[in-house]
Amino acid sequence: MILQQRTQLTPVAKPALTALGTALVILLALGATARAADCPRPGTLGTSRVLTVDPAQYPRVGTKSFPQTLPLNDKEIILTFDDGPAATTSAVLKALRDECVHATFFMVGKGAHEMPAMVKRVAAEGHTIGHHTWSHRYLARIGFAAAKEEIDRGIDADNAALAGVPSRTRTAPFFRFPYFESTPELLNYIQSKHYAVFGADFWASDWEPMTPEVQLKLLIGRLEAIRKGILLLHDPRAQTAAMLPAFLRYLREHGYRVVHIVPAGSSTAAVKTDPIKRGGN
Ligand SMILES: [Zn+2]
Repeated sequence: MILQQRTQLTPVAKPALTALGTALVILLALGATARAADCPRPGTLGTSRVLTVDPAQYPRVGTKSFPQTLPLNDKEIILTFDDGPAATTSAVLKALRDECVHATFFMVGKGAHEMPAMVKRVAAEGHTIGHHTWSHRYLARIGFAAAKEEIDRGIDADNAALAGVPSRTRTAPFFRFPYFESTPELLNYIQSKHYAVFGADFWASDWEPMTPEVQLKLLIGRLEAIRKGILLLHDPRAQTAAMLPAFLRYLREHGYRVVHIVPAGSSTAAVKTDPIKRGGN
């Protein structure tokens, strides 16, 4: 309708208006792109704050395995994903990006070695990368030397996958044992490396096959019981990737806040706090 009206304008005015219209279209397109890409963004969950984790202060966290966990307020959640990178990591990243939240990925070194581009993408999108051994073995059952090799080779592979990226996006000194299976000797070894060992405070049991709907219901039930903590999920699980958008929406609609953990000395620690959400919930 508007275009038809424009055809009635004089030949002098028409090109000017066309140029104006083109500029307007470009501006609108740029605006839409910016809204889709930029975080924080109104209407999204948003990372509510960044928590710096110093392994010296918090050597072992997560009440499923240890007496201590990270200092969180009521309704504050830390999102963690184990066992990636994998093909489904893309969908997980999209869900996180759509809600402007940051998570921590405990990666398996073998996968990182095979999919370095995905590791770089996780880092580039602002998430924290921790370590989950080279090949996800039961470390308490293979002897100290082999376990140590699994730990160190995994860390090296995760770091190698990020070769060439800016130093601010390097991996964090955060480690999680496969199956949460450790020994006192291995715990001491991790501590001697100045890495923090992560357990979890709750999880979705997403290693069990179930529909995304059933998993969401299970997870929400556990969330409402515990109300805060370090949540363990698995990005290679398709059911988890499928469930994640609805879960993040649930967090947003029920006043939960996502806390992003970063290593001490991280240059990004100060800029990731989302001022829009701070007083919002
Ligand atoms: Zn695992």
